[in-house]
Amino acid sequence: MEFSREKRLKGRLAGDRRGDLYPHSLQFYLQPPTENISLAEFENFAIDRLKLLKVVENLGVSYVKGSDEYKSKLEREIRKLKFPYKALVEDDYDARRKDHISHFILRLAYCQSEDLRRWFIQQEMDLFRYRFNALTGDLVEKFLKYVNLSYGALTARSLPAVQSDERLQPLLNHLSHSYVGPDYSIQKNVGKISLEHIDALSVKSFPLCMRQLNKALHDNHHLRHGGRMQYGLFLKGIGLTLEQALQFWKFEFIKGKVDADKFDKGYAYSIRHNYGKEGKRTDYTPFSCMKIILSNPPSQGDYHGCPFRHSDPELLKQKLQSYKIPPTGITQVLELVKGMHYQLACQKYFQLTHDVDDIGFSLNHPNQYFAESQKLLSGGREVKKEPSEPESSQQKLSSQKSTNSCSIPTSSNTEADTELEGLDAYFTED
Ligand code: SF4
Repeated sequence: MEFSREKRLKGRLAGDRRGDLYPHSLQFYLQPPTENISLAEFENFAIDRLKLLKVVENLGVSYVKGSDEYKSKLEREIRKLKFPYKALVEDDYDARRKDHISHFILRLAYCQSEDLRRWFIQQEMDLFRYRFNALTGDLVEKFLKYVNLSYGALTARSLPAVQSDERLQPLLNHLSHSYVGPDYSIQKNVGKISLEHIDALSVKSFPLCMRQLNKALHDNHHLRHGGRMQYGLFLKGIGLTLEQALQFWKFEFIKGKVDADKFDKGYAYSIRHNYGKEGKRTDYTPFSCMKIILSNPPSQGDYHGCPFRHSDPELLKQKLQSYKIPPTGITQVLELVKGMHYQLACQKYFQLTHDVDDIGFSLNHPNQYFAESQKLLSGGREVKKEPSEPESSQQKLSSQKSTNSCSIPTSSNTEADTELEGLDAYFTED
């Protein structure tokens, strides 16, 4: 595959040539593409396939694979993203081409580590299985004959060549750490949050990673660099102004070992930096889940990272118990963690803490978690509620004071609830 800055001339191939290239709607991806492709198309194809694979992952843990619901939801997504969805559609050259090229782009992006490789292969296998099962008997026979099932996966060996291409490597790195959605760099809620709301919000609407950072900040009156970046940018994303951020961090830090002067000289700079007021004046965007999960793992004394990825499962279990998640819910979360579905584990946590059985979005970003939570709590969207259990373990648990119980007010804190009522309105969709 070669890449060009020029826009590709569409429809270069005609008639039989197109048919020769992709005689089947299903592919075994035996040969990498050899045509020129523009960087814009490269990125668009990759992002669409990533979207598709994320849906495959999501459906795979939410429905029985192969069930009618699974199949119809997957087909809907495949059609929406314009990948080949029906084996018998004759002229779907563009869809087949997109399928072929996008598969190889993600192969490049996802062959860079064992974790990424495993995730990619799992989703591609599920996608392939779905498509294969949709073929008629005749087409299965034709397909197997055509692909002549003997091949070896070689993409990682192409990496050195690709890595020397300065245009592609950042793109590929970005893709494998990327998520598909807004980057929360534009804060429509700037200045709408009061600092005194943050603790209550951390219980009601922060994802576990941010709730953990908020608690660690209160407990230690300090966070190391990784935590300050992850949490600081998240807070910026939910609408804290620079002045508020300075006040917020200073208030906590000076309760610990840092005096006001040291804070102003040392830490204030990095906060202004996060807001693009220092250094290269980059307006930094809040971290996505993939970035948090895949880069800069926390070490001893750090509180950043994703608790579903980076916490010891036993500690995670204790934490969830202390947050009054019912035992069945904890088991479900831990199962997802075991299968390395960290974002889905977080979605399950959202479901359990918001008492809904369908969260209605695919989680990719901590700020998305916050925005969706606020939308839901403010009634901005209808979400189906789970039927309540005869005697819910959550109720039982909430009547016991857990030894691990954290000092942050719980969601039943009526004072905080009242305070937040007005705030919820700011997060409903325009
Ligand atoms: Fe945070 Fe994302 Fe991990 Fe959830 S999945 S805890 S939002 S990093």
